[in-house]
Amino acid sequence: MDHFLYNDGALHAEDVPVAEIAAQVGTPFYCYSTATLTRHFRLFDEALDGLPHLVCYAMKAASNLAILKTLANVGAGMDVVSGGEYLRAKAAGVPGERIVFSGVGKTRDEMRLALEGGIRQFNVESEPEMQALSEVATAMGVEAPITVRVNPDVDAKTHAKIATGKSENKFGIPIARAREVYALAAALPGLKVIGIDVHIGSQLTDLAPFRLAYEKVAELTEMLRADGHEISRLDLGGGLGIPYTRSNEAPPLPVEYGALIKETVGHLGCEVEIEPGRLVAGNAGILVTRVIYVKSGEGRDFLILDGAMNDLIRPAMYDAYHDIIPVLEPSPGVEQAKFDIVGPVCESGDTFAKERVMPPVAAGDLVAFRSAGAYGAVMASEYNTRPLVPEVLVNEHQFAVIRPRPTFDEMINRDTIPEWL
Ligand SMILES: *Cc1c(COP(=O)(O)O)cnc(C)c1O
Repeated sequence: MDHFLYNDGALHAEDVPVAEIAAQVGTPFYCYSTATLTRHFRLFDEALDGLPHLVCYAMKAASNLAILKTLANVGAGMDVVSGGEYLRAKAAGVPGERIVFSGVGKTRDEMRLALEGGIRQFNVESEPEMQALSEVATAMGVEAPITVRVNPDVDAKTHAKIATGKSENKFGIPIARAREVYALAAALPGLKVIGIDVHIGSQLTDLAPFRLAYEKVAELTEMLRADGHEISRLDLGGGLGIPYTRSNEAPPLPVEYGALIKETVGHLGCEVEIEPGRLVAGNAGILVTRVIYVKSGEGRDFLILDGAMNDLIRPAMYDAYHDIIPVLEPSPGVEQAKFDIVGPVCESGDTFAKERVMPPVAAGDLVAFRSAGAYGAVMASEYNTRPLVPEVLVNEHQFAVIRPRPTFDEMINRDTIPEWL
């Protein structure tokens, strides 16, 4: 459920007409709903009721400070995957003890940054990384709390670019080698083993792979405890999928996911962390663009938008589907037509949809991409020297620009010409 609905014939973000924002901000822009963000966070939080837990929002999905603060205000921790994200989380007011550091290639500088500013735990992904963290922490005279990310070798049955839990993926250490790696962790100075971490992929639409993974984690917990390790925290990752179309079957609900967690690891007496990103932010954001031209082609018609692949790369990168709807509500029963929906960037990959059936739209009309809140603005670039897409946050009847569109001067003046030229 989200808060982007037609009201009085016009698409609204909560109580604000989207066209009104477009008139003030220009297009394209991302628009997020506070109510949807907080609702989705709470669904996870409530799904784990009864277990000691922390929901750490995977901020790589959408990391604007205003979004982070919105979620932190309702109790979210953060899952960060870079030093930059760590600093963003801190800048949004999230205390270090609510920040989890994930990622396959943390540098020593990033480790130092987090140890200085405070960190809930590092999810360590390899022995060399463990060695490096041990050295950094020891040199600083501190102890780094760690889990080890294990790779449970389960098939998440999702898009290849976002599957992370198969043995062929770069993530974590093979679960079969976990005892050996935990023994190393226990022997290294400057590290404090506190638990286990797993994350098998993104946009999972079935609970079965989670079940397989969490059962393996439960088994490993008992085994590692028998080896004398303290396992008091389980980080179970993110990855629950969202419906991108209204026609396809609905992915499992957070409450069902929570029940699965309780069933598989609830008996272990561990504190549980989960790291949802997409499900918190995905349906909490839309990308609003304007039709520049309607172009008739050979056997097909094109909608050429002022939004492009540099603003929303998911269709080009992951073959992703987004619902694209007119901001003016189409009259019921109106005749629909097929369009290829494209942006102005100079490559054919800049295609959002082929042969998409749409109500009639004309040049100058606004259209919105639904479910664009996660992995949308954060993956935007300035390819073709197109200004980095702005972001807007709505809260009931108010809205604010939370990242302005840069001017061309700002963009161009970031470059410097060496003196020899
Ligand atoms: C990307 C990522 C997540 C979030 O995945 P979603 O599919 O957005 O929920 C969680 N944890 C880790 C380690 C990740 O890399």
